Amino acid sequence: MATTGSAQFDSLGLKRVINGRSWVTILGGSRMQPEVQQAMVEAANTFIDFHELNRRAGERIARYTGAEAGLVVAGASTGLLVQAAACLAGSDPDRILQLPETTGMKDEILIYEKHRFGFEICYRTAGAKLKEWGKGEGDLADQLAAAIDENTAAVTYVYGPWMPCELSLRDVVAIAHDKDVPVIVDGAAMLPPADNLTRYIADGADLVTFSGGKGVRGPQSTGILAGRADLVEAARLNMSPYASVGRACKVSKEEIAGLLAALDQFVSMDHEAEWATWRASAETIAAAGSGIAGVRTEIQDGDPNRQGPTPVFYFDDGWDGPTSDEIHASLLAGDPSIQVAAGQHGEDIFVSPVALEPGEAELVAAALRKEFLR
Ligand SMILES: *Cc1c(COP(=O)(O)O)cnc(C)c1O
Repeated sequence: MATTGSAQFDSLGLKRVINGRSWVTILGGSRMQPEVQQAMVEAANTFIDFHELNRRAGERIARYTGAEAGLVVAGASTGLLVQAAACLAGSDPDRILQLPETTGMKDEILIYEKHRFGFEICYRTAGAKLKEWGKGEGDLADQLAAAIDENTAAVTYVYGPWMPCELSLRDVVAIAHDKDVPVIVDGAAMLPPADNLTRYIADGADLVTFSGGKGVRGPQSTGILAGRADLVEAARLNMSPYASVGRACKVSKEEIAGLLAALDQFVSMDHEAEWATWRASAETIAAAGSGIAGVRTEIQDGDPNRQGPTPVFYFDDGWDGPTSDEIHASLLAGDPSIQVAAGQHGEDIFVSPVALEPGEAELVAAALRKEFLR
């Protein structure tokens, strides 16, 4: 069996996976650059004042995001949890201990109907109740304004593939701020492009969270929170190492060091050159579909909601080879196992090139070609 590259994982009998599905948690997130790994190794051998570490690391994040303040959190999921906790309990010590029970607090977070998503549970974990808006009659801006009431703790704005909102973040911010309600943003998977680090803050968001372990390629268990100083401070108090609703979401000193090293790299690297590498991989993989009757191939590129230029294969009516399920199963059964993405949104097979190592695009292309000719 092909080695995973980890003696421990090999000793567990795990199979090496070629990741054609992007920086997904279920396959292990992303690969950390050597600088990031080194930063973690160095940090592992230290003691520091943790509160001070959180504050200083936050200052670095503030610098990179243009926000007043920042905080390293345990994944964007924790970012969402502490966004909610900060908007519900603030920095009040009694309220922090009271969560997730919310008597006496504003506890509703408004969410646009097309932004409903699985990670909402992170808001609810802090005690928030989700209140949907946007399905009524008439102008969306009026609907949002009408939905805000004395129980509204925050309005959330979620960026994700296939989750459009006809109102821009700026529009939503203007309406919410007019009623003194903060806007919290989930931008978990929106890096790269690197511009997004500052964009949502510039658009007026009060708190923004990003994953540290997706395109930033920090430790998988990290995330970034940035925003208004008072709310970031409240988030910090609602998180580990304090006894609080976020105590279970610990981020370690090694992870903080790793995330900072990853961010340092992310803001200084040549993203265009990297995109060109991904594009070349995408073209290598897309070529697997050329000349195959019944397979329509395209490369989806430029959609900011997609991570990297993405080869997509559709099976037309003329296709009489294996089904896409059979192809996925066959790729999965190989050694190394190849994971590509399935058609959640109408695509039969799509392959994200962003987590592929040199040489792996060729392996994926060869395996797909073999399936198409089966
Ligand atoms: C990945 C993701 C999350 C969770 O982020 P983690 O860093 O894995 O905790 C939340 N929201 C969206 C939209 C995501 O894509």
